[in-house]
Amino acid sequence: MEMVGYRARWVLADEGEGARLVPDGVVVTSGEAIAGVVAAGDGGLPERVVDLGETLLMPGFINAHTHCVSGPLFRGVIEDLPLRDGPGSVIDAIMLPLGEIATEILTVDDIRAIARLGQLEVLKAGSTTIVDMPRTRHEAFAEAAEEMGIRAYIHPYLMSAPEDRAADDAAALERARAVVRDAFGRWHERFDGRGGGRIRIGLGPHAPDTCGPALLRAIGEARDAYKARVTIHAAQSADEVKVMAARFGMSSFTYLDRAGLLTPELILAHGAYAPDEDLRLLAARGTPLAHCPLSFARVGVMASYARFAGVGVTTLMGSDAHALDILADIRLAAINSKIHTGDTAAGTARQLVRAATSGAADALGRGDLGRLRKGASADMIGVALDGAHIQPVHDPIRTMVWNGSGRDVSFSMVAGEVLVKDGAYVRSDEKAIVRQGARALHAVWDLARERGILRDPDEAH
Ligand SMILES: [Zn+2]
Repeated sequence: MEMVGYRARWVLADEGEGARLVPDGVVVTSGEAIAGVVAAGDGGLPERVVDLGETLLMPGFINAHTHCVSGPLFRGVIEDLPLRDGPGSVIDAIMLPLGEIATEILTVDDIRAIARLGQLEVLKAGSTTIVDMPRTRHEAFAEAAEEMGIRAYIHPYLMSAPEDRAADDAAALERARAVVRDAFGRWHERFDGRGGGRIRIGLGPHAPDTCGPALLRAIGEARDAYKARVTIHAAQSADEVKVMAARFGMSSFTYLDRAGLLTPELILAHGAYAPDEDLRLLAARGTPLAHCPLSFARVGVMASYARFAGVGVTTLMGSDAHALDILADIRLAAINSKIHTGDTAAGTARQLVRAATSGAADALGRGDLGRLRKGASADMIGVALDGAHIQPVHDPIRTMVWNGSGRDVSFSMVAGEVLVKDGAYVRSDEKAIVRQGARALHAVWDLARERGILRDPDEAH
């Protein structure tokens, strides 16, 4: 197998004693794997060396919570809206009706086009792995991910019918098993392991208030039978907290724990409304939390990495649906941590980058991801450091987090395959992906305008 070296001004290597910077370093790849990380001056380089110049070469980000279809669907549509009935109201007023229109008019090709647009965005902004929750009928999402080359843990949504949200009898369990077979088993059979192993199918219960006890039981069965991973939203709204208290007399986390779902195989997204005692329960169970501060900040809610990590929760980073640029969430996580604690040393760039690389890899049970070391999968990104907003560079990690953005990612590789080079996606025509995705979304918005769900931009502000 041909060895190829990728040389950069800085390499963030991890030989087992934590990440450290190698100035003028070279990552040597052999097929899908990393053969080693060396300093250029030490010699012994392969014949072919690609010089990435003034960049930071580092592990690709593992984005622990994304919605690559909803992201562009709601872009510029829900920000700044007055939320008279609290942060949940926009869901009923706009998000659900838009989702219904999307289901009504979008073809499989349209869904594929939108998924490609979101996946292109997330990949170009530095995430080489995503954990995404598409709708059950959107199988085209998995096809798009395979086409794009991104590493994707895909968890199609599972939800109980409204009359089953408190049900726990034998008949409800049978119905729940049918839901799991249809929404997970079918996907698993068709897609798990595709793309040379880059596509993995997991279980995606939507949230505690939409998933009844019988469904959670069926999900636990499938997790054990398939050795599958699970992800769920929890403590994500004040409404959910109220519903769970009224329906079961307990918190979302206790509910999940009693169902046997709070394990290290679960990634719990958000937790913004969880009290400290619930966070301590999460820490005790070893369940990682995907922290997505931007989608909460935009509705006026503070979520803090320092708070989660402070009680011992394994905290990962996700960009949720607002924008798929994980560096935007990492920077806000740093800011929120400092505001929340009053401590400038809380939520450092190093801690957050670790959370979004090796920390997330460990949470996925993937010791071969999230670090640049011999034997690891060659999933890495190059962040350009030559811009006026970046130079001069003292500490490339700090500067990337505080001054950079996903748009500085100039190079990306998954399993040894270059996907982004000189800032451009290489597998297919980037402009066509953007055009086709946007066209499909405009059709949804046009109908939403006709039906009075969306207003013109100049109205009502
Ligand atoms: Zn979500």
